[in-house]
Amino acid sequence: MNLDMFSCEEEHDTRLSVLSFGAGQDSTALLYKYVYDPDFKMRYAPNDFLVVFADTGNEFQQTYSHLEYVKGFCQMHDIEFVHLTPDMGYHTGDWQSLKHFFAAKDAISSKAFPKICSQRLKIDPIYRFLEDFLAKRYGVKKGNKKGFRQFAKELGKIRMIIGIAANEEKRMSKAEDRKERWYRESITHEYPLVDLGMDRAKCQSYIKSVGHAVPIPSNCMFCPFLAKEELEYLRRFCPEALSEWIYFERRKLDKWSHLEAVPVVSASGKTTTVNKNLGVWGKRTLPEMVAIVQEEFASWSDERIKDYRNSHGHCVSTAY
Ligand code: SF4
Repeated sequence: MNLDMFSCEEEHDTRLSVLSFGAGQDSTALLYKYVYDPDFKMRYAPNDFLVVFADTGNEFQQTYSHLEYVKGFCQMHDIEFVHLTPDMGYHTGDWQSLKHFFAAKDAISSKAFPKICSQRLKIDPIYRFLEDFLAKRYGVKKGNKKGFRQFAKELGKIRMIIGIAANEEKRMSKAEDRKERWYRESITHEYPLVDLGMDRAKCQSYIKSVGHAVPIPSNCMFCPFLAKEELEYLRRFCPEALSEWIYFERRKLDKWSHLEAVPVVSASGKTTTVNKNLGVWGKRTLPEMVAIVQEEFASWSDERIKDYRNSHGHCVSTAY
């Protein structure tokens, strides 16, 4: 045996791989790959393996049901699964949940605003949790992310396995490009679905091929990045949730009504009046959009609307 080669491989291996679990089709396919494909396990998570799901508090009921199923599956296969809920203390400030943020700030997420929700509700809680986890499990220091760097130095960088499908490569990012030093020095990003050429359709086929039900794509119910077809899905199948969403939008629009006619001076010196009080869809309110989609998809059967909803995700503009 070539010992130099062996030790070199050891050096580059990592003690801990973490699957950032979104409970949708992509990350579910990755979990099943880990269990059913020994080559996959050897390549991406040969040592300690942890699955973490951060709850936005606004998932669809089907996603919560799938989550319970996956917890049972992980238990059966001796995989550590952590479901981060706000009571655990890793969601902070006004970001206890998506609705909590809306209520606390008279705010709404909008297609027109910069997106910070996935950072606040998913990514940040996962790293806060991991900091505690590393200290408890591996005895590294805690506080100011010191433990991450200590862990990386002693046991290798943590491999974050991220469920971005092939064809979504624009969402990929390199840990080394992050501005936080602790992150650059202790985390690596892995995108196995991209490596393996698995797009959403291939993930769906793979899940079926190993004998499991395909979950719906996981998105918040009140995600502004939904398509019109998905708004029609909410109108038909989740009317109570839609009413609540409309209520939050109305609260926001009423609170900020003074922004409805803001004078704006153009480069040529001309003054125009602009509506800067935007809702989920921008200038059109949710009730207006609901009326539009009801008419636009009137000829679509319930089955067709459901099929659309079950095959499209929309957290897709988030880079991880
Ligand atoms: S699904 Fe939409 S609302 Fe929820 S965290 Fe992702 S981008 Fe934000």
